[in-house]
Amino acid sequence: MSQVIDLCANSLRNLTLKTKLLNIKPTIAASETKYAALGIKASLYLHPTCKDINGQVSADEMKDLYQNTFVKSNKTRHLYDSIKKSSPNDICPFCGQRTVSTVDHYLPKSIYADLTITPLNLLPSCADCNFSKRAVTALAPQDQTLHPYFDDADSDQWLFAKLEETTPAALTFFVRCPAHWDQIKQSRTESHFKTFKLAQLYASNSANELNNMRFHLQKLFAADVSGQLIKLHLEDMAETYAANYKNSWQGASYEALSASNWFHTGGFN
Ligand SMILES: [Zn+2]
Repeated sequence: MSQVIDLCANSLRNLTLKTKLLNIKPTIAASETKYAALGIKASLYLHPTCKDINGQVSADEMKDLYQNTFVKSNKTRHLYDSIKKSSPNDICPFCGQRTVSTVDHYLPKSIYADLTITPLNLLPSCADCNFSKRAVTALAPQDQTLHPYFDDADSDQWLFAKLEETTPAALTFFVRCPAHWDQIKQSRTESHFKTFKLAQLYASNSANELNNMRFHLQKLFAADVSGQLIKLHLEDMAETYAANYKNSWQGASYEALSASNWFHTGGFN
């Protein structure tokens, strides 16, 4: 943390701000330590808010420092880029779907000035997820969205889909956490799902996928009107997606489709 502050300070031409920034270094470092301790305990909602740091540097000054120095200076740009690039295949860790295009402050910089340039608080994100989270500040443990650096929610399946037997067929998505998860983790996963509007995103994607697969399923149905070939194909796809990522909307979709006799025997049309 102190290296980040030094790099930012060395990029500043404003000597007053540079001095103030170096003065508050211990406070920012202490906030980072507290953040790490609370993150491990899934209790970041308890982090004290901070509108200015030691009465010396305001939230607005920190915001300027972030936007005009941390993000842009050639001394610190590599830090910003490495955070942005830290998600596998550039997939947004919040929705698991869209491409990373920005960096999100898990605790917002407007009210946590002391965490504005703290790497642990900076997460790769797509623009939509960044926007969805903007207005949300958790006041209770169950309201916190999942934090990709601290929370492991993907060792188990929690995302499921339900098939609506309509014409055309449609899928709706919901959260069903494993029973061995504690209540807070279960509620947080629900909050995450709601905050990032994942039900809408996945329903839209899956409607498109259902259109794309129709021609293939019609061919399988022509070869076997019992629907058994279709069932096997859908099971295979569900397993394939689940082997890579347990909570993909595709995995949940194929799992729901493979379980429906109605779908195998013509519901796909
Ligand atoms: Zn996203």
